[in-house]
Amino acid sequence: MTHRTIHLFRKGLRLHDNPTLLAALEFSSALYPVYVLDLEAKLLGALRWRFILQSLEDLDGRLRALGSRLYVLRGSTLAVLRELVTRWAVTQISYDTEVEPHYTGMDREIRTLAQERGIKTHTCVSHTLYDVRRIIKANGGSPPLTYKKFLHVLSVLGEPEKPVREITAEDFLRCLTPPDPDHERQFGIPSLEDLGLQVPSEVLWPGGETHALKRLQQHLQSQGWVANFSKPRTVPNSLLPSTTGLSPYISLGCLSVRTFYHRLTSIYAQGQVLWREFFYTVASATPNFTRMQGNPICLQIDWKHEPEALEKWRTAQTGFPWIDAIMTQLREEGWIHHLARHAVACFLTRGDLGISWEEGMKVFEEQLLDADYSVNAGNWMWLSASAFFHKYTRIFCPVRFGRRTDPDGQYLRKYLPVLKNFPSQYIYEPWKAPEDIQISGGCVIGTKTHNCPMQYICYIYNNELCVCAGKDYPHPMVCHLEVSQKNLALMRQIHTEQQNTAQLTRDVSDDPMEAGLKRELQEEEELIEGAESNGTFKRLNNGMDHQSRPCS
Ligand code: FAD
Repeated sequence: MTHRTIHLFRKGLRLHDNPTLLAALEFSSALYPVYVLDLEAKLLGALRWRFILQSLEDLDGRLRALGSRLYVLRGSTLAVLRELVTRWAVTQISYDTEVEPHYTGMDREIRTLAQERGIKTHTCVSHTLYDVRRIIKANGGSPPLTYKKFLHVLSVLGEPEKPVREITAEDFLRCLTPPDPDHERQFGIPSLEDLGLQVPSEVLWPGGETHALKRLQQHLQSQGWVANFSKPRTVPNSLLPSTTGLSPYISLGCLSVRTFYHRLTSIYAQGQVLWREFFYTVASATPNFTRMQGNPICLQIDWKHEPEALEKWRTAQTGFPWIDAIMTQLREEGWIHHLARHAVACFLTRGDLGISWEEGMKVFEEQLLDADYSVNAGNWMWLSASAFFHKYTRIFCPVRFGRRTDPDGQYLRKYLPVLKNFPSQYIYEPWKAPEDIQISGGCVIGTKTHNCPMQYICYIYNNELCVCAGKDYPHPMVCHLEVSQKNLALMRQIHTEQQNTAQLTRDVSDDPMEAGLKRELQEEEELIEGAESNGTFKRLNNGMDHQSRPCS
């Protein structure tokens, strides 16, 4: 009980199942809970910062209730620690083990500092279900690269450890947090305004452990949900999350993943966090996991460099209401359903725009409340069929995908108010509505004409030719059937040429959420493949199926 310890919170912003903090309290006589706000270190959006600040407020409140406080400082973590170690005569620094390079680099620096000052470090694994190093060791020294193999290794290791007990006021009776009379001024939590950030006033995802546990409890109580969830048929465009909606809390460690796993006994929900574990394991031992170049498991694809098209996707201006509504929800709320992520990721990469998954990953990293180094990159590689998933013929249609589960377009009306009064019949492809319906529906795009000298389908409004702009809402930026067919041919070639790389992560496992969509997905595949093989693409295109081609 002799140590004077700084417990460095990075993720793991909680007092339940926090083995590192529990052990630090046990072996210390004084403990300073510290969080360092390093605004320069990571590209995070304003919504995520708000979520972090709220989580810090919550943590401070919970610590206060136990007789302690959270010390929040600004700057680079190492510089802050250097100063505090001297100021508080610290003999030990404790922190959770991480696999993300940003933190493993920080860990090295902390260890060097500790050596220089002759102090100890203490660290435990609690952001994942297992210590991923154990999984890699059990797999013979390299990470299992397929989910099937991964599950096999886990079956040898057995169930993940149970959560440790919650931290109590008694722990802080034995080990005090020395009070500082000037705490608020020196160590208080800044406001968003202090950080120069602005966000919408509505808070749909309040940060913090208290909300995380409440949300978990609500899900446990809604027996219907637990039962339904075991047979995945959740809806990407429901107006409220149809899955647990716990990802922001898990990603920041406000909710322990082991608590989630052991309390949610539905096989499906447990399976979801095993996917997380899988990506963490592979990411921890794969060089350049978040990049294509130098990443040994990722197919090397000559993606297009088209900043304007990327910007249209990012800012919800693609002209496909289903894609634009999702991108609007992402920007305004910071969370979208898993299958909605599928839709926009496929559209950006191998489906329509042919833009690199790295670009999409960066946008998600900035805008998602649950942005996570390993899970984000792993899923982007999956969706772009660059690794893990190799059924590249499965392309999502930006019209039909959303229409199946929300034919009236309630989700579109919410996130794209310009289409609020549009008739359901045309809401997924408003460019196909006759001009009088566009006018009465309050969203004028233009009317198609066949007089274009370039033989494209052009749009006129008020007798003026309007090229690809749309008046109140953009024309579709691509012809889905045409571009997806071209991309499909390219992917086929790449998968053939780079068979050895594809083979590394080829698996029979499928995304569990896609299971419910199987039949529809097969129809899409047949449509695109059929068009490719028998030339019906031209007929469909000229026949003005849901994919009209704008004049460019
Ligand atoms: P639930 O279905 O309730 O699942 C419970 C938990 O399991 C989630 O909170 C999450 O921790 C984990 N999980 C669920 N699905 C996956 C998955 N496919 N891969 C790994 N873990 C999973 N999730 C993130 O947490 N952070 C990200 O940055 C992220 N980026 C993604 C990018 C793309 C392109 C795609 C397709 C998916 C991404 N996901 C990411 C995975 C998934 O979409 C979210 O975890 C899920 O939608 C969160 O909602 P939920 O908590 O209600 O999930």
